[in-house]
Amino acid sequence: MECDVLVVGAGPSGSLAAKTIAESGLNVILIERNKKIGTPVRCAEGISAYLFKDTGIKKHNSFLCRKIKGTKIYFYNEQYILSGKTWQGYVIDRKIFDPYLAKLAQKAGAKVFSNANAVEMKRVKNGWIVGVNFGKIKKQIEAKFVIGADGVESKIGKWAGLEDNSNRGLFKCLEYEMDDLNIGKNDKFHICFGQEFPGGYAWVFPKSKTRANVGVGVNVKKNANLKQLLDFFINKYPNINKMIGGNYKILETRGGLIPANGPKKIDGLVGDNILLVGDAGEFVEPITAEGIEPAMLSGIAAGETIIEAFRKKDLRKNFLKIYEQKYKKKHYSNVKLDELNKIKIYSNLFFYIFNKKYIPKRIRKLSLNFLFNSIK
Ligand SMILES: Cc1cc2nc3c(=O)[nH]c(=O)nc-3n(C[C@H](O)[C@H](O)[C@H](O)COP(=O)(O)OP(=O)(O)OC[C@H]3O[C@@H](n4cnc5c(N)ncnc54)[C@H](O)[C@@H]3O)c2cc1C
Repeated sequence: MECDVLVVGAGPSGSLAAKTIAESGLNVILIERNKKIGTPVRCAEGISAYLFKDTGIKKHNSFLCRKIKGTKIYFYNEQYILSGKTWQGYVIDRKIFDPYLAKLAQKAGAKVFSNANAVEMKRVKNGWIVGVNFGKIKKQIEAKFVIGADGVESKIGKWAGLEDNSNRGLFKCLEYEMDDLNIGKNDKFHICFGQEFPGGYAWVFPKSKTRANVGVGVNVKKNANLKQLLDFFINKYPNINKMIGGNYKILETRGGLIPANGPKKIDGLVGDNILLVGDAGEFVEPITAEGIEPAMLSGIAAGETIIEAFRKKDLRKNFLKIYEQKYKKKHYSNVKLDELNKIKIYSNLFFYIFNKKYIPKRIRKLSLNFLFNSIK
């Protein structure tokens, strides 16, 4: 098999990159190792109200579960409401959302394959040969260009020898999708801090009147038992235990890592005939750990970069550095993607303030005001 551009990974970043490039008429293949795109879910499925405007993707009832009208921050019994559009959004169903995006790529002309796992990659004169297991059958795809959209455990960048300039600010997470909860009309993202959650937080993202994604994420370097933390959160954290109630069902257990860093430096994102997007490039908001929208925006910016590179017939690293200018112009909620790295500078201090009981309340208020400027 041959193509102009091979996109490895059909998450939000890969599908948006494939869609953007296929629309230009280039020959695109998008591969996904899972049998079903979007399954299994490794996400709390919260998105900002800005996502559709920012990415140009149309809202569709099929994947919208619940409209969210604000965000509530907790520090045990202290509660802060963050209002304004930045803190509103939706809880979506990624089992429907991810295939929807891949379908858009397909409609734009990309060939999409699931159950297709990239297992090796070799440099050739005009690009790469990628070994792909289509189920039990191994095939080679010869591509002039490869996009690594293969998520937080990305291999593509390593195989291509891209510079490893990660900040290594990883969250490790454990989450349940739960049913039979007392959510009712509750329409907030609930984000809960405390000394039990070092370098992170716990969350309840309502999906319906009875259903929610409930999870905990902490700094990977802390020696934390996530199962114990999640049990504590569900049963003992003030106010949350009432929302959860005593008769809940656990529908799914999910785990995963989040590269909460903001984009890697450009030498870690591009090389000759190769580029990384989404979690593979660490396009994640360092405090909230939102990665869906930054992933989609990086996919679009990558697409624009590659279309220009093909037009100029220059697929080398030096030319591809225009990717940095392209993604820096993209707006994520009301911040530019570029500013994610600036937020990273504050993130350690922010988590310190929100993880320590001895820090006075007014410091937490000040830091929320400083960071988000929208506290009531
Ligand atoms: C517990 C948890 C909760 C989260 N909650 C939120 C949230 O509420 N809101 C939010 O915005 N973000 C959240 N995130 C982050 C968000 O899920 C990611 O940032 C986002 O999915 C990144 O998109 P992506 O396309 O870069 O990668 P992914 O969505 O991870 O997609 C990568 C795809 O590549 C495929 N792949 C990997 N290797 C190969 C290979 N060799 N060959 C073929 N395919 C391959 C994978 O199977 C996967 O489908 C959460 C993450 C976790 C772990």
